[in-house]
Amino acid sequence: MSSTHPSPAPASRVLVLNSGSSSVKYQLLDMRDERRLAAGLVERIGEQTSRLKHSPLHSGGESRERTGPIADHEAALKAVAEELAADGLGLDSPELAAIGHRVVHGGKHFTAPTVIDDTVLAEIERLIPVAPLHNPANLTGIRTARALRPDLPQVAVFDTAFHTTMPEAAARYAIDVETADEHRIRRYGFHGTSHAYVSRATAKLLGKDPSEVNVIVLHLGNGASASAVRGGRCVDTSMGLTPLEGLVMGTRSGDMDPAVIFHLMRVGGMSADEIDALLNKKSGLIGLCGDNDMREIRRRIDEGDEQAQLAFDIYIHRLKKYIGAYYAVLGRVDAIAFTAGVGENAAPVREAAVAGLEELGLAIDGELNAVRADEPRLISPEYARVAVAVVPTDEELEIATQTYALVAKKS
Ligand code: ADP
Repeated sequence: MSSTHPSPAPASRVLVLNSGSSSVKYQLLDMRDERRLAAGLVERIGEQTSRLKHSPLHSGGESRERTGPIADHEAALKAVAEELAADGLGLDSPELAAIGHRVVHGGKHFTAPTVIDDTVLAEIERLIPVAPLHNPANLTGIRTARALRPDLPQVAVFDTAFHTTMPEAAARYAIDVETADEHRIRRYGFHGTSHAYVSRATAKLLGKDPSEVNVIVLHLGNGASASAVRGGRCVDTSMGLTPLEGLVMGTRSGDMDPAVIFHLMRVGGMSADEIDALLNKKSGLIGLCGDNDMREIRRRIDEGDEQAQLAFDIYIHRLKKYIGAYYAVLGRVDAIAFTAGVGENAAPVREAAVAGLEELGLAIDGELNAVRADEPRLISPEYARVAVAVVPTDEELEIATQTYALVAKKS
């Protein structure tokens, strides 16, 4: 049916919210051209020294800061809404199409981004026992945003969703099946939004469709995880029931014999909470050498610091084991992609991780590896059988893209 009235321009903005226990990170994007209109962060919610930093990117204006107590997430989101409104980007704008929320744990059930209703909220709440730190904060962000704009579609984008394609052989732990099922113990994986984005961007860099390529993605930030992606679908990932499993991270141990925990309980007299804090917050690089920032560790190594060198060597040893393991899982590898803070910036980590793997078709060109750039790029020599890439991740853009695709499809 045609109309003589021009139809209004469809709403094209998406607000992305990443709500942590005491922080909210946000970005407002225009999905017509994926332009970032504003971005910011509220920190130390609930303390006297809360801080909101807002950057009006659309106008190139100066960033603004507010300090002073912000009591809770509701107050934080209201403050964000005020900052956006001051830039003419208010939450009441008809151009706002949806709010996309990062939700850490979607369990087995949520295999794709999902428009949030009361049933979805209840299911995210049911998953709190497997994500006690993250899901409650994510839920608070969702509830607050819904109260502010009850009429607006809100979409949950799950960190676990990309990994729900893992076969049972990769997703199950080899423990008693009944016990595992009763407590929903299985390998869920995290950082999925990043692994999805980076594996797709790597295929694009190779000029191929994601369905045609097998990629090992190494997301190396403060948290770190690897994934094996076959034809665009995740077939294995290194984080498990929680983000503690897998690679050596900034403050997490990654893989170890689970019996270390019984030993610490029985012989060390430590409680479950103490061991939890030890393995999640005081292990990994910081536990090994006192620093979790790769820049600082490299600086110390350059000065001849042996403890920093050992921490680096343990980090690389584990990384290499995962490259080898995922090579075997995939059978054929077209590319390895490094991403996140360490993966995008630390050339020595990339060099050391791939060193000695020439027989697997892996090599790095030293000059290309030394280049610093914000664009996806190849760092392997032309002759290498497997491409090695540096692909900056963009979880906010991926959340906005998935949110917008879902909302545009429904309208
Ligand atoms: P997360 O999102 O997990 O907090 P990021 O992906 O932002 O982490 O990565 C943060 C880490 O990246 C820092 O802890 C630091 O180790 C590393 N990093 C950032 N910039 C550099 C750099 N220029 N060189 C080496 N490492 C860097």
